[in-house]
Amino acid sequence: MASHIVGYPRMGPKRELKFALESFWDGKSSADDLKKVAADLRSSIWKQMADAGIKYIPSNTFAYYDQVLDTTAMLGAVPPRYGWKGGEIGFDTYFSMARGNATLPAMEMTKWFDTNYHFIVPELGPDVKFSYASHKAVDEYKEAKSLGIDTVPILIGPVSYLLLSKPAKGVEKTFSLLSLLPKILAIYKEVVADLKAAGASWIQFDEPTLVKDLDSRQLQAFTAAYSELESSLSGLNVLVQTYFADVPAEAYKTLTSLKGVTAFGFDLVRGTKTLDLIKGGFPKGKHLFAGLVDGRNIWANDLADSLSTLQALEGIVGKDKLVVSTSCSLLHTAVDLVNETKLDNEIKSWLAFAAQKVVEVHALAKALSGQRDEAFFSANAAAQASRKSSPRVNNEAVQKAAAALKGSEHRRATNVSARLDAQQKKLNLPILPTTTIGSFPQTVELRRIRREYKANKISEEEYVKAITEEISKVVKLQEELDIDVLVHGEPERNDMVEYFGEQLSGFAFTVNGWVQSYGSRCVKPPIIYGDVSRPKPMTVFWSSKAQSLTKRPMKGMLTGPVTILNWSFVRNDQPRFETCYQIALAIKDEVEDLEKAGITVIQIDEAALREGLPLRKSEEAFYLDWAVHSFRITNVGVQDTTQIHTHMCYSNFNDIIHSIIDMDADVITIENSRSDEKLLSVFREGVKYGAGIGPGVYDIHSPRIPPTEEIADRINKMLAVLEQNILWINPDCGLKTRKYAEVNPALTNMVAAAKLLRTQL
Ligand code: GLN
Ligand code: ZN
Repeated sequence: MASHIVGYPRMGPKRELKFALESFWDGKSSADDLKKVAADLRSSIWKQMADAGIKYIPSNTFAYYDQVLDTTAMLGAVPPRYGWKGGEIGFDTYFSMARGNATLPAMEMTKWFDTNYHFIVPELGPDVKFSYASHKAVDEYKEAKSLGIDTVPILIGPVSYLLLSKPAKGVEKTFSLLSLLPKILAIYKEVVADLKAAGASWIQFDEPTLVKDLDSRQLQAFTAAYSELESSLSGLNVLVQTYFADVPAEAYKTLTSLKGVTAFGFDLVRGTKTLDLIKGGFPKGKHLFAGLVDGRNIWANDLADSLSTLQALEGIVGKDKLVVSTSCSLLHTAVDLVNETKLDNEIKSWLAFAAQKVVEVHALAKALSGQRDEAFFSANAAAQASRKSSPRVNNEAVQKAAAALKGSEHRRATNVSARLDAQQKKLNLPILPTTTIGSFPQTVELRRIRREYKANKISEEEYVKAITEEISKVVKLQEELDIDVLVHGEPERNDMVEYFGEQLSGFAFTVNGWVQSYGSRCVKPPIIYGDVSRPKPMTVFWSSKAQSLTKRPMKGMLTGPVTILNWSFVRNDQPRFETCYQIALAIKDEVEDLEKAGITVIQIDEAALREGLPLRKSEEAFYLDWAVHSFRITNVGVQDTTQIHTHMCYSNFNDIIHSIIDMDADVITIENSRSDEKLLSVFREGVKYGAGIGPGVYDIHSPRIPPTEEIADRINKMLAVLEQNILWINPDCGLKTRKYAEVNPALTNMVAAAKLLRTQL
């Protein structure tokens, strides 16, 4: 029985690639140094999979920056502004597209489906001259072969590539990306021929867009593309791989009828309906790659359960046609549990990172062929049982409280406009009130203090003193700038999720559990393993301290339940919404404690609410319903005079505006400055927004200082659409990554612009 891995993390167990990339970008090491690190990582991964007994080992799953950008390079689809002159694409052009260069910004980056990975969006227009400009796929295949390992080269499928692209500037409205299919297929044919000549017997096309809502024209593109490729593919085994959800019934028909394709890969973890589809009919004589080991999470597989699914599938597709696989690329999970020195053995026994998942896949394949590794299976069963019954996982009181929430609305009793009136009486704010999003610049000094405190190198007393000084500085600065609603600056926080996770029960933290977010950037999501509760107040100490330093209102600053959920590795033993409700209850306790401590404005950030949106329209309503409900739970218990803010880090919320209104916050601040028009168009089209709203008036992602007139101009545009009494003036997002040299003048100009407009209203 065969085993297969859809794809593998590139960063290395200790983020070796990240450090090599950054050193190269900083000019501290050469291109050859970087290539050497990359080659070593690839060879160790290939060897690891070969040693584990994996039959179908992927190649071309490595990328220096991003696999979609690699495809753009393969096709020679470099936007003309990068000045590429043809030939093989080198680091210069490649990294200019990825990161920008001295004169040009980078290409646009966007989220890869519903993961936290970001890809570089191809920009294609009618004039692109495609050419076979990166031989990376075949080079990697040969590289593995020279190590004695025959791999399955992976290409992003031609149709998904086009569906993930955007039309080049100037042709946005008119250009059909799919019209480029014949042109790019010509290049794909060259690549396939090259791979064949190098000795490849299998090839994998990733076509994950098949899990989305596609129309018939898009589905036809798949039929057309693979018919066109059929003759080039003859003699090869061809796997079309899908992931992240089940394939809708129509798409399933299209997929399983594709010409020239001999194998189909499905995500059986998230693809809850895939099993039924396969039972309803699977083409005779084709291979089924059954993705049972979860590539999106860090939990050990329930091997007994997977084995019974495999046995059922075997009855449908036949013994020699079933291949055990991962649900998607392991890119979205942590790399190797071996490097976790701080997790205790019990929790570790519940987990599997990429390296362990490879072993699980092989163990399942062997078991299916009658050679079950009894010791491995029984250790796994014991771990599953211990996780189910552990008192660390189960907290009956929390489970009961969360269960009691279902079916109820949790809405503040008074409507938002009456609440705003009551709050205004208490807060007495000027029109167009100014505020910031929460964090102030995080200096090297601050990071050192937190690090030393964590490592017990400085005392609690010294730590409190240092943080208090920082807060006083930030408060004083805001008073000097004459900002109306202040923040404490978040100097005690390294990360807006980790800070809360560390104080809540049910969370665990890794030391090396990094997952690539984009380029060299990685995140280390907390692991939610148990019922969530809040042993004691988390932010009251610092917020009250900050409030005591000023007469102006000081915002209490919390991360919302949906964001904590979406930025963590979540339990797979209960639905996401249940975990979210539990977090909501913990945050609710915190909100009420802040209120008791005299904090009258509380911001509950939901930066990642939109990220959790399911891939398919039919599932959106359910998600938005419990996500928005969770947010409301956090603040349903406060008085009318307590003002609840929320903040969101994106502006493309036009499609979910009604859910955002349904959150029933008193004030929302949102990222906006890179897409004014888009945001305002919702309101221009007549959506009524009765609560306070602060569309960011300048971009904090850039070091540029926005001039007063420019900010005033922006505010004027907003005033044309939004009523003046609901408009707030604030930057786009937190100021954590900026320097004071930028923040001071930028905020000065922001306040000046607000004051200027107040005189004109
Ligand atoms: N309050 C957080 C901050 O200002 C919000 C960050 C975010 O939205 N990503 O840093
Ligand atoms: Zn933000």
